[in-house]
Amino acid sequence: MMNDNSTLTVNDGVAQPPMINPNVSQLFGRRQTLPEVEEYVEGIRAGSVVMLSRAITLVESRRHDHQQVARKVLEACRPYSGRSIRIGITGVPGAGKSTFIETFGGMMTARGHKLAVLAIDPGSERSKGSILGDKTRMETLSADPRAFIRPSPGTGSLGGVARKTGETVILCEAAGFDYIFIETIGVGQSEIAVHSMTDFFLLLLISGAGDELQGIKRGVMEMSDLIVINKADGANIPKAQQAQAQYQSALHLFPAPPSGWTPHVLTCSALEKTGLDTILHNIEEYVSITKANGYFDQRRREQARYRMYETINETLQNNFYHNERIAAQLERVEQQVAAGELNPYEAAGYLLRIIN
Ligand code: GDP
Repeated sequence: MMNDNSTLTVNDGVAQPPMINPNVSQLFGRRQTLPEVEEYVEGIRAGSVVMLSRAITLVESRRHDHQQVARKVLEACRPYSGRSIRIGITGVPGAGKSTFIETFGGMMTARGHKLAVLAIDPGSERSKGSILGDKTRMETLSADPRAFIRPSPGTGSLGGVARKTGETVILCEAAGFDYIFIETIGVGQSEIAVHSMTDFFLLLLISGAGDELQGIKRGVMEMSDLIVINKADGANIPKAQQAQAQYQSALHLFPAPPSGWTPHVLTCSALEKTGLDTILHNIEEYVSITKANGYFDQRRREQARYRMYETINETLQNNFYHNERIAAQLERVEQQVAAGELNPYEAAGYLLRIIN
């Protein structure tokens, strides 16, 4: 007789469980054909994160057929876009951006908002993917059903990355996200790109690190709608308050911004979740003031104009460098310039005439 505890006991077979969700397997399966444009749009409009993610992947793809579908999906989504509050967040690595987005974003979703977090990081090789690349940086928010986190579209020209992010914003808005955070590392031109696609620009700083180290250029401070000194906790509180006073007086030296809103300097602790309420209150106040005085819409119209010129520049550049006749001559001409045989202006003129 067999011992009941024997590991040799043979149990009755269990029927194969059904597929968890046949639609999911269809979406992730080895299906070769892409969904139809309508499927994307309906999925996005219904708030499907799977469809939203797939549409963003299309937008980011370099393949011509993907780009064609992406264009149509974007056009169909555009009428449902524009209704979110777009917030740019910048600060050097270590300032606490991801900790801040995690706790501040969590507070917003707890209040019923739907939040999408995107990133612009064209030099992700330089920053070693420290920006949103590692989702564990925002563990709670990643698991939050009211939040959607999408890392930067990766390397490429800043213009290209910015365009893809701008298009991703449209898709997220069509999917019903009412707040969009666009994160960037404050070390280069990417702040300008983020500023050109957001309604509100938040600069996250820490005390005691020095302006130079934090890459704070006058221009970045000047375009900030709110400066927040993070890590105002424990023994660091007095230093944070001192920094707050210093930056506040530095801001007074700038001319009054066209928004009609006076930028404030606040302190917070992303870690201890203090000061976050006041930050949200500031953002809400900014939105209501600038919507009332017309600046909110005016800024978006200016951004549309800027985007047009960006697209023209990007297209001209692409057409130039992808032109076969240019490609055939570029290296030779470049070498002649480097060897001092040809002056750079003549060389540029010669190459430009090839495509004109
Ligand atoms: P990021 O590179 O700007 O995204 O910065 P992180 O969010 O990764 O934060 C860098 C370090 O600062 C981490 O060790 C965080 O735990 C710490 N940090 C972030 N926010 C705070 C804060 O409010 N207080 C303190 N004491 N540390 C913080």
